[in-house]
Amino acid sequence: MAQKVLIIGSGLGSLATALRLSSKGYQVEVVEKDKRPGGRLNFFEKDGFSFDMGPSFFSMSYEFEELFKSCGIVNPLILNELNPLYSVYFEGREKPFLIYKDLKKLAREFEGIEDDLVNKVEAYLAQAGLLFHDTEDIVIRRNFRSKLDYLIQLTRVPLKHSPKMVRSMWSELERHFDSNEVRVIFSLVAFFLGSTPFQTPAVYSLLNYTELKHDGYWNVKGGMYKIVEKIMDLLYQRGVKFHFETEIVDAVSNGSSLLGFTDTKGKLWEADIYVSNSDAASFRGQVLRRPRFNTDKLDKLEWTLSPFTIYLGIKGKLENIHHHNYFLGNNFTEYANSIFKTSVNPQKPYYYVNVSSKSNPDCAPEGCENLFILCPVPDLRYKPNWSDTDELANNIIKDLSERVRYDIEANIITKTIMNPVDWQNKFNLYRGSGLGLAHGLNQIGGFRPANKDELFKNLYYVGASTVPGTGLPIVVISSRLVTERIINEHATIH
Ligand SMILES: Cc1cc2nc3c(=O)[nH]c(=O)nc-3n(C[C@H](O)[C@H](O)[C@H](O)COP(=O)(O)OP(=O)(O)OC[C@H]3O[C@@H](n4cnc5c(N)ncnc54)[C@H](O)[C@@H]3O)c2cc1C
Repeated sequence: MAQKVLIIGSGLGSLATALRLSSKGYQVEVVEKDKRPGGRLNFFEKDGFSFDMGPSFFSMSYEFEELFKSCGIVNPLILNELNPLYSVYFEGREKPFLIYKDLKKLAREFEGIEDDLVNKVEAYLAQAGLLFHDTEDIVIRRNFRSKLDYLIQLTRVPLKHSPKMVRSMWSELERHFDSNEVRVIFSLVAFFLGSTPFQTPAVYSLLNYTELKHDGYWNVKGGMYKIVEKIMDLLYQRGVKFHFETEIVDAVSNGSSLLGFTDTKGKLWEADIYVSNSDAASFRGQVLRRPRFNTDKLDKLEWTLSPFTIYLGIKGKLENIHHHNYFLGNNFTEYANSIFKTSVNPQKPYYYVNVSSKSNPDCAPEGCENLFILCPVPDLRYKPNWSDTDELANNIIKDLSERVRYDIEANIITKTIMNPVDWQNKFNLYRGSGLGLAHGLNQIGGFRPANKDELFKNLYYVGASTVPGTGLPIVVISSRLVTERIINEHATIH
């Protein structure tokens, strides 16, 4: 008989797991606290504009291909490769650097700034590529039975990579490049991992390989939310049931097995197997009330930065900006060393701007543009008070207007702001951390909260804060890992 699986949350990790399990004959039901599916991969419409709420591009697109293929489905998503990958504006320099995968084009962007760029990048990426391919199957794409199992697996990584475990990403970049500009641009990926390039180990140079050489960056025709819509269509066809505006707050067990979860209204949700797509660390603390994950312990973990996001619909077309843009100041070291732990608004904010109407005109009325601005800020442990939300938003809009030479403020048709408190409350993100647990060496692989519960043999986890980590393709891998575990441990008859 088909076994019933209850998934808590409907982020990408959940939807991908539901697709895999329903394709294997499991009966799947999903409960979600928000009013629509997708979690951080979300969407809204306002005043004639539409906005992707969080993610705007991704790497490792082949993980989506694998997801659909493993379920016997032709990939319904139409992907666009980003070219250039993104542009980077430094304060005081009018022209942005366009970052291309084509190294000859890239070298032209850095003429007079970094000599011999093609050879230097090739040498840097050759090492990073070796590391990526030597570790992908050992660290990222497998389940671990225990910390010991993980450490044993690590011994299979060739020893030649070990200096990169101790060296920082910044020193690795210093060894390969002379200009501050190239070093800063290539080190931006460290912030996605939840740390600065000065603390992030050089092993993560492999992310530069994934963006610049391997698979590049992609987005989805029609907007990122198409990922959710297309998977939802498939799930409804397979009979998966969804219950929105239903938040799980407590668990009922017999000691070794879970008997059910209860929601805020006291309703009991029962199944044979349970998967939590809620944050794997804070769910253990806040819903299962495990002492190892109480607030004190959670606060001692490393978390990624919080998002401060602004969604603008504006009149007029912006000429001096591309689809994906980073706006940086020229105090990088000071910024990096303070951004994680300050309690005040950054005076010189560093931010990312996505103008999806540049490639998808349906997002904005004719002659208009939709802007998504993401400014990474300290999480709520360090800056709990967001009464200065408008001040930071105005500061960013003013800075952006000057840098793209267009009066954005005077042309705003619609404006929505989400600060870390909003993100925390909307999707239960611990302390408003945008990407979940950080990825230092002590919080990855066997040291990350496992995708199998320590106590209950019928409870599993999927998503950004369990293995392997955060980001859209990585949570798709997470869905594969948890599905493998469930099938191994609870085969269903179909
Ligand atoms: C602003 C922003 C920009 C980003 N940009 C990118 C990007 O460009 N590229 C990229 O690859 N990644 C990006 N990311 C990261 C990416 O969004 C996440 O890694 C990924 O979406 C996480 O998916 P998930 O399945 O782990 O969980 P989530 O998306 O967090 O989904 C979990 C779901 O569970 C629900 N839930 C939580 N607790 C409960 C409960 N107790 N009961 C019921 N429901 C519950 C939540 O409401 C939520 O819907 C971005 C993230 C943010 C915040």
